[in-house]
Amino acid sequence: MVFYRTYRPKLISQLDKTDVRERIGSLLQSKSVPHAFLFSGPRGTGKTSTARIVAKALNCEHVDKKVTTRVATTIEPCNKCSNCLAIINGTHMDVIEIDAASNRGIDEIRELRDKIALSPSMGKKKIYIIDEVHMLTREAFNALLKTLEEPPVHVTFILATTEPHKLPGTIISRCVQITFSKATDQELKRSLNRVIAGEKVEISDKALSLIVKSADGSFRDAVKILEQAVSENRLSDADISLLIGLTGNIDLIEIVLHRDIKRALSSIEEQYQNGTDFSLYIQSLLEGLHEQLLENPENTEVKKLIKYLMRAYSETKTTSIPQLPLELAVIEYCSN
Ligand SMILES: [Zn+2]
Repeated sequence: MVFYRTYRPKLISQLDKTDVRERIGSLLQSKSVPHAFLFSGPRGTGKTSTARIVAKALNCEHVDKKVTTRVATTIEPCNKCSNCLAIINGTHMDVIEIDAASNRGIDEIRELRDKIALSPSMGKKKIYIIDEVHMLTREAFNALLKTLEEPPVHVTFILATTEPHKLPGTIISRCVQITFSKATDQELKRSLNRVIAGEKVEISDKALSLIVKSADGSFRDAVKILEQAVSENRLSDADISLLIGLTGNIDLIEIVLHRDIKRALSSIEEQYQNGTDFSLYIQSLLEGLHEQLLENPENTEVKKLIKYLMRAYSETKTTSIPQLPLELAVIEYCSN
């Protein structure tokens, strides 16, 4: 996970999600910056990276909202002053990150309540970043709510959660909510391109698209796959395909549709020997079939195979023999 940390966005303009970048930009430029943000969305969509950028923008010595009005020169953190550096290194006294999922969550919220009135000690603002905020106990929520109701002017809250529906409405209503939806292919590519430029590696558009496809909207997963490919120096299209288990998937579909059980099973065995992740593999098979279905919606064979594979896909998550659900699906489909 070195790349994900190294190449995470450091500026507002580097935020890969277009809507988030624009929203954060205009909120930080506005006359009254919100005193509480709520970042919600699935894992790996950049909530924590964004929270740290906001913390830097509000504390950077070179950001002065009164001087100019253009985004690029006013609200971007410099990443060089003592405040920015301390936030980057995780040592800033006034930027407090709390993991609500940890046992210390409740103690930390109590401490927050006790110390919140004190002025910032080195920066301009005290920033409380509370990750997985839905995990707080009722008692901790009540403590938090009190501080959210009447926050001191020197405090900004950034709450982050993967499960906003578990938050009390009273908390949500006090925050400016920003939704981090799954990243689009374009946004994932933007993020991967930052890594590619930084590492000076060459990779084809096709290979890039394969990575994007298997990342399912997660920046973290996309960068993780690319990191593995770079570290093993396996960057050709074939290498990347193998890495994410897409090799030969069209072949397998053809073989199965021709009801050739023997060849199908030996192809699955080959995937197993290659160390294929079967959940990703079945997913890619389904994507191939889905495309065939859209091209030819009347094809009942394709529809039938999709149903078998969908069941295999969900069973893959619970089996101890990873290739078994796919083998069973193939056998059942072929002998039907
Ligand atoms: Zn700075």
